[in-house]
Amino acid sequence: MAPNVATSSTTSEAETSEMKFDVIGRVGLARHGRLRLPHSVVETPVFMPVGTQGTMKGVLPEQLIDMDCRILLCNTYHLGHRPGHERVRAAGGLHKMMNWPRSILTDSGGFQMVSLSKLMTVDENGVNFESPHTGEMMALPPEKSIEIQQALGADIMMQLDHVIHVLTTGDIVEEAMHRSIRWLDRCTKAHTRTDQTLFPIVQGGLNLDLRKKCVEEMAKRAKVGIAIGGLSGGEEKSSFWRVVATCCAVLPPHLPRYVMGVGFPVDLVICSLLGADMFDCVYPTRTARFGTALVRRGGLMQLNQNRYKTDFEPIDDRCTCHTCRTYTRAYIHGVIGKETVGCHLVSVHNIQHQLDLMRDVRRAIDEEKVGEFLNSFLGEQFSGGEVPQWVRDAVGHMGYKLVV
Ligand SMILES: [Zn+2]
Repeated sequence: MAPNVATSSTTSEAETSEMKFDVIGRVGLARHGRLRLPHSVVETPVFMPVGTQGTMKGVLPEQLIDMDCRILLCNTYHLGHRPGHERVRAAGGLHKMMNWPRSILTDSGGFQMVSLSKLMTVDENGVNFESPHTGEMMALPPEKSIEIQQALGADIMMQLDHVIHVLTTGDIVEEAMHRSIRWLDRCTKAHTRTDQTLFPIVQGGLNLDLRKKCVEEMAKRAKVGIAIGGLSGGEEKSSFWRVVATCCAVLPPHLPRYVMGVGFPVDLVICSLLGADMFDCVYPTRTARFGTALVRRGGLMQLNQNRYKTDFEPIDDRCTCHTCRTYTRAYIHGVIGKETVGCHLVSVHNIQHQLDLMRDVRRAIDEEKVGEFLNSFLGEQFSGGEVPQWVRDAVGHMGYKLVV
């Protein structure tokens, strides 16, 4: 009898120990980490592109592998409606269905409901919303969110949290925070698969004391990693970076910190240097649809402008993406807004831009050249303009000297 018991317990320990985070380099507050997940090893800081319905808009999984993308985010809300989580389960899970062998993170579905549903209420049971497809009122309790996410089978699942608008003030901020802690406990109870991990989400709005309180409770319950939620909702940048800095300062170092919904290049760099490790945003692919390419020099390149009509350079001559190796600004200018290939070409470039930016941050940490990197990055992004005050404040807080 005994050997059997020992074997089974060893197996389950082996499964959980497969998922772990190691900090392999550190400069100031920033870390270069390695997150081991069941489907890939993710180097952090990392940007996770968002594949809404089990597909990246205009980009194939094979192309993401070529870019060395190791982890994607998929939206539970969209997949739960179409094709439906039961069908994804029947297809063998999300990895198999979308032909993506590497890691996936799914959100809880709650945030999408808040942003997409006309009618949405929250009570202790969960989130109630009107289905945009059938018009019926539906309930999403924490247990249901986990059931759906377990059917999808992502490496990382997110807890259902009580999302309120970031500019909300008053007692509701603290109530939503406490409710999110209770809902995490319900999610944990419903979580049965050992090959998936569950991230808690730190809430507390822009109130730094509430954030600290929430970190304390959530960190106690976190196993592999933790998220900082409720930001990027239109708050002042001066509040945004202070919340990230405050949470990172009190979070235990062994947990990777995922700042949800962050994707502007400057935000990625500043948050990484403040000690955050994971980010996601639809920004690079959404902005590509309007013909906007992300570039180091000047930040943005609007390829629909007439000046690119006869510009036969690649978007960025230092970029190694397929688009920059193959097509000119003039070609993209000619097809953008007319042919879907235009959006595809810019999306490929923009995702590569974000992945390369994070790689450069990790390299700067490894080579202990963070100050040099920061000056060269900000100098290029804001060439011809001023570095915003919030960036200067955050850089000052980290103890680096800006010469740009
Ligand atoms: Zn490129």
